[in-house]
Amino acid sequence: MREGEAWFRALTACPACAGVGIRGYKKGNFSGDLTQDQIKITDSQYGKTWDLSICGDCGHIFANPCPTPEHLSSLYGRVEDPLYEEESAGRSRNFLRILRRLEKFIPERGALFDVGAATGILLDLARRRGWEPTGIEPSSWAVRAAADRYGIGLIEGTLETATLPEDRYAAVTMVDFIEHTPLPFEAVRKAQAILRPAGILVLVTPDIHSRAARLAGRKWWHLRPAHLSFFSRRSLDALLRRAGFSIVAERRYSWTFSAHYLLSRKPALQARLKNMRPASFLKRIPIRLALGDSFEVYAMKDTGG
Ligand SMILES: [Zn+2]
Repeated sequence: MREGEAWFRALTACPACAGVGIRGYKKGNFSGDLTQDQIKITDSQYGKTWDLSICGDCGHIFANPCPTPEHLSSLYGRVEDPLYEEESAGRSRNFLRILRRLEKFIPERGALFDVGAATGILLDLARRRGWEPTGIEPSSWAVRAAADRYGIGLIEGTLETATLPEDRYAAVTMVDFIEHTPLPFEAVRKAQAILRPAGILVLVTPDIHSRAARLAGRKWWHLRPAHLSFFSRRSLDALLRRAGFSIVAERRYSWTFSAHYLLSRKPALQARLKNMRPASFLKRIPIRLALGDSFEVYAMKDTGG
């Protein structure tokens, strides 16, 4: 780690529960500059992490030192990720499953706020199912793409610092967002503030104690420099309770990708795939990965909290 540089800082308390009994957990193998390529959603360079600390109170595992919020928002602001949209069919399947479950809690629909909305795929689906869609996204490129492709107007920025109406939304979705922010508590607390009483927060994030994570070890695909928080069931619960939520349902998240996308995650195959004609055919084959290595949690805003 490079001393004296202002774009990362050492943490003295747990970013989930604020406990101060933190200690070293694992030495990292990443110490370079974080680049825009490494924080893209479709980045395939996994197996790299910052030095990780663990909280003695809630068991949360997190990058420490950690890039500063300012540095990260400037990086995410400049991210462009055309490959993300190529996989819109698979992503739609993932998001559709989430919306259906959410609608069991809120059959009447209402205003839905998506955090880290990327190019607006989830919000476009939500709108077609009767939701009133809004969201926030730091990447200027993604905000433009959401407007051009789906006519969805996103707020450009970060949840933690945005000025938003309180007690307004029926639902807030955070799919693969919370592990990217250096301020997970502030983000969830903000979600609590903008939700109406008994509103639902949907949160999807990797489970560091999952079987897939243990089996893959250092090669677990969620180990990447862009991931700053690694939750367990216990630390997720600590985070949500502290922010004024109670978990009302939970599942294991399964992913759908195309055959082409999965093959292209193998760096050795990337060059060959580029010249292969069947690539477009592979893009049409959906594969559902039931790795079960992410949490999919539905949490209700505590009434009176
Ligand atoms: Zn903690």
